[in-house]
Amino acid sequence: MDKLNQVLLKQDIRVGADLDAWLARGGGEGLARALKDPLAVIGEIAQADLRGMGGAGFATHRKWMPVAAAPDGDKYIICNGNEDEPGTFKDRFLLEHTPHQVIEGALIAAVATRANHVILYVNPHQASAIAATRQAVLQWQGHPLFAAVGQYLGSTVTLRVVPSSGLYIGGEETAVIASVEGGFPFPRRKPPFPAEQGVHGAPTIVNNVETLAHVPGILRHGAQWYRDLGVGGAAGSKLYSLSGDILHPGLYELPMGTSLESLVFGYGGGMLQGKEFKAVFTGGPSNTLLTKRDLDVALDFDSVRLRRSRLGTGAMIVVSEGTSIVRKVAEYVSFFAQGSCGQCPPCKGGTFQLMRILNRIDTGRGVHSDLESLENLCRILPGSGRCGLIDGAVTVVESSIHQFREEYEALLMA
Ligand code: SF4
Repeated sequence: MDKLNQVLLKQDIRVGADLDAWLARGGGEGLARALKDPLAVIGEIAQADLRGMGGAGFATHRKWMPVAAAPDGDKYIICNGNEDEPGTFKDRFLLEHTPHQVIEGALIAAVATRANHVILYVNPHQASAIAATRQAVLQWQGHPLFAAVGQYLGSTVTLRVVPSSGLYIGGEETAVIASVEGGFPFPRRKPPFPAEQGVHGAPTIVNNVETLAHVPGILRHGAQWYRDLGVGGAAGSKLYSLSGDILHPGLYELPMGTSLESLVFGYGGGMLQGKEFKAVFTGGPSNTLLTKRDLDVALDFDSVRLRRSRLGTGAMIVVSEGTSIVRKVAEYVSFFAQGSCGQCPPCKGGTFQLMRILNRIDTGRGVHSDLESLENLCRILPGSGRCGLIDGAVTVVESSIHQFREEYEALLMA
């Protein structure tokens, strides 16, 4: 089994909303180091190869650089804790158990980019995460380290919690910005990117909770320390939300690059009731399925991409033989159809059409032309929306037909 390398979930950093307890365990050292040499922070993050943990795995320093380069004035750091995807449950845990670490990461980002507004955008359905984050914010606001950030920036720094929309689509970064501005979380096309035109037109960074939680450790211990946490050339550690037909579901912090087999059969204890492994919905239900032949894949952004899938949030929904892939895909596409914001007709209509056909096939009422219709929709829908929701729904349908076509065909009426 690969080594266990806990940094975020270590028992002794589960300090809740107690800032003194966080500082007594070395918290604050990363921020103090950032304040001593602010211009070196982005270089350190780049050397650490910290990636965005909310989905795309985009290099964090590349999001920060254009905002740092923008002239002084209003700039925003938004910590995105909207988390609402099936099978993903990591950010709420961090906000509940170590909110000071997340806030310290956001303040380091503010120092690095000279941002004077820090917003913790938290899902209102996660009441304990909201409560812990609010309490933590109050404690930071009264602490000298927070005052030192304002002194460095030469302006007042705002630090506040904003309840998110709680809608799935509300986690998309342009939707986050619309919501923070007080509107409905409608995604918009990019460019302009948030770094160019974010909250009220100001340069803005939207980072995932887990991404920011890694930042204090990198500043405190150095980029090389962080890189060495990973295995097989991957950098850092990663939270994996493991669920489905698995003996020990739960949240695991493991070295980035841990194999899928090690996660499922080592840490996860193998399949429920000794059943056969069938597939994993990886990174949430909007990516290409990984199957038995992918068990050796290293769970890092680049290796998973080479298998034509995505690590995404690190959610792993495990499916055993005997579980209907068609049923699971129908459930997830139904989630996407209900989550569509309706701005783009091909998305609203297309996801509902996919859902209707999938349900027909799943309930034994489908015919051969239904399978053809699914494949046609998978050809015409991608790229037709302002955000990635429609592409995600299509990917999981297309991937499941490609990998489990015989299951679809077996359900069709003669
Ligand atoms: Fe809304 Fe779908 Fe268009 Fe995204 S693709 S903006 S969810 S309608």
